[in-house]
Amino acid sequence: MLSLILSPALAKSADNLNFSVSVLFEEIKAKPVELRHFLQNFPKGGDLHSHLSGAVYAESYLAIALERDLCVSLESKILLKPPCDPVKSPLLRSVLDNKDEFGFENFNHLVNALSTRYYRLQSVSGRDQFFSTFQRFFQALDGSRGDMLAEVVARAGRQKILYLELMQSLGMFEVAQKARSHGDIDAPFGSRIDHSMIDAEVVKVVKRLDKIEARSDALLGCGSSSAEQRQGCSVEVRYLAQVIRELSPIEVYAQALLAFKLIESDDRVVGLNFVAPEDSPVALRDYKLHMKWIAELNKNFPAAEAGVSLHAGELTLGLVPPRHLGWHIREAVMVAGADRIGHGIDISHDEQMYETLTYMAKNKIAVEINLTSNEVILGVQGEDHPFTTYKANGVPLTISTDDEGVSRTDLTNEYYRLVKTYDIDYATLVSLSRNSLQYSFLPGASLFEDTYTGRKTEECRQIADSKSSKPIDSCAEFLSGSYKASLQWELEQNFSSFEAYIKSQFDMLNP
Ligand SMILES: [Zn+2]
Repeated sequence: MLSLILSPALAKSADNLNFSVSVLFEEIKAKPVELRHFLQNFPKGGDLHSHLSGAVYAESYLAIALERDLCVSLESKILLKPPCDPVKSPLLRSVLDNKDEFGFENFNHLVNALSTRYYRLQSVSGRDQFFSTFQRFFQALDGSRGDMLAEVVARAGRQKILYLELMQSLGMFEVAQKARSHGDIDAPFGSRIDHSMIDAEVVKVVKRLDKIEARSDALLGCGSSSAEQRQGCSVEVRYLAQVIRELSPIEVYAQALLAFKLIESDDRVVGLNFVAPEDSPVALRDYKLHMKWIAELNKNFPAAEAGVSLHAGELTLGLVPPRHLGWHIREAVMVAGADRIGHGIDISHDEQMYETLTYMAKNKIAVEINLTSNEVILGVQGEDHPFTTYKANGVPLTISTDDEGVSRTDLTNEYYRLVKTYDIDYATLVSLSRNSLQYSFLPGASLFEDTYTGRKTEECRQIADSKSSKPIDSCAEFLSGSYKASLQWELEQNFSSFEAYIKSQFDMLNP
């Protein structure tokens, strides 16, 4: 039950104001327990920046590794495929419950190694610890993605999230490997790679996605009677093909081509992203080249209608030499034609910052804000984070997790951090949730002209009956033609139910 005891002054003012959740929210902000609970129940449109492998908690990877009889390197804590070396990399099962010299179980050390838990106590930086985890659990991924998906959507369901756009790399390493021996990056477009090789991989990836979703549905009981279903069955999932950008040019190119072909072939894959540390030497060296390729591929695959989201500006002074700062965001939006960017931290280094911000605001290019990730990897938080600058300059924003498993967070916690750090009002909170559908790559027109004021598209502006949640005829027709808008409509209904729940708790506690 929600504990909503207002101070007498606020209760009075709330009463005078005919109670509104916005007023109540101002009071709740100061109460961490109530705020977490409020935000957990608060309807969230989607999470647009979530890497599937990074979204899974270390405990789950260890369970998978046990089941698969994987080994673990005692030195690097990397999970390895058998055969195990009894001295250097024994069977995980044989060491998991053992204790170290201080009596602590290896299990705890491995959870720390496979995540950023207690990362400040480790001898490596947050950045290094974060990125090293992916290598450690890599061998647990194959054949486990259905289980991983089930974990992630169940967690989303519990947090009232309607939609996930998950990044995954299916087929990427396979095409990269083939491209190494069969590609020619200097050839003209169409001849750099054997397109039929990529097409063959597309077929395989589509089949793998089918299997992954079937396994997840089976684990959650989706499709069975609603009483047996676990939370998560109603969460809509789409995928972004993630290109690993620290590989050689021909390998990156092959992956980008696979991404566009996947988007063209399977409606579940709605876009692409370029991933791996933006500060790595190869990513820095080839950044401009990558941006040009994305623009070129976009032009050559018009039917794909690819959503382009790019990790851009996940950089700070000190992490990289100054010459690498202040232009990645600009290149991503102006050269590659990105629809959204992730992080956008180094915007202050852009010599034409206000021009870039204006461009992004005018062209509705959203920034995916990942607060926990930015603190752990880059050490950027609070006033040093550009959230307020983007917001003040009208750039659309969404709140996302990045890697909720590795970072031991969830989307509710990201909203929590946001509210505690930037003192936003309820209308902003609602607009951020709306933005996560408005700027999703779901097909169809958007419901809103303005997510902050709630001004809807003309077809849906009139209300037939204030008590009815049914759309008027013109709106019903509009919704039936847009998958995105229909989910946005559902989110609005969820806001109404949530606010009614809050009001009922308020009435009960403040008779
Ligand atoms: Zn990311």
